[in-house]
Amino acid sequence: MQEQVLTIAQIEKIFAANREQTDAQVAQSASDLPEPLRLAYERANAYAPGQVEKVRQRLAADRSTLSVLVKATQDENLPRETRMAWLRELTERLNQIAQPLSACMTSHCSHCCYTPVTITRVEAQLIGKAIGVAPESPPPRSHAANGTETAVASRPGIGHTYDWPCPFLAVETSLPPGKGGKCAIYEHRPMVCRSCLSMAPSDKLCELQPDHLVPIPLFDARVPHLLAAQIGEMDVADIRDFFPKGLS
Ligand code: SF4
Ligand code: SF4
Repeated sequence: MQEQVLTIAQIEKIFAANREQTDAQVAQSASDLPEPLRLAYERANAYAPGQVEKVRQRLAADRSTLSVLVKATQDENLPRETRMAWLRELTERLNQIAQPLSACMTSHCSHCCYTPVTITRVEAQLIGKAIGVAPESPPPRSHAANGTETAVASRPGIGHTYDWPCPFLAVETSLPPGKGGKCAIYEHRPMVCRSCLSMAPSDKLCELQPDHLVPIPLFDARVPHLLAAQIGEMDVADIRDFFPKGLS
């Protein structure tokens, strides 16, 4: 049977539809926030554009290296694993450029490690090889968003409570949940973790809220996500499904 190949244009359409939905959710959840969070959100929204502009300047200075890496991810003569490895390299480069300007640099937190972490099967295999743990075989998903939806459906409260840490998170039990914590596979962590960078002044908006979905001004990672979806053929699942036991 011929392998179905999704084009960037097809994936962009899916992303655009998701984006419309996400924008509507952001507007709704921002207006529903309790006063202290709404003020923190407004402060973050006023602060983030300055940081994003600095990131943009740093990206422009590194344009030639970034374009070489993007080109390598697009080379269809290469196996998908190799293209994905180049994409991981690209995302690491983006992380090195943007992280110093993010709240992630100074906040010593891990709230995002309790939220859905959607990765492609190709990336799970690369991570598995690097850490010496074979990924399990969750059922394939045909749509990138379904990886997140599946994590949500099978894990009640995920993204709103601290009940579902990533299996690779070494929790600091002396601190409140979401504070401290170390990634046990930091050097090999997924691209989604490298590109999840808050441009807010602190981790305040990242704290999980049982009753609210708090919008966060994140680093714009649409390009690597788009490329990952294309190379990974939308075959995605949550990291908890690929590696339910973490490193053990
Ligand atoms: S995204 Fe938020 S929770 Fe995650 S490391 Fe950055 S500031 Fe902390
Ligand atoms: S892989 Fe590491 S950085 Fe990513 S969610 Fe898990 S613990 Fe956090």
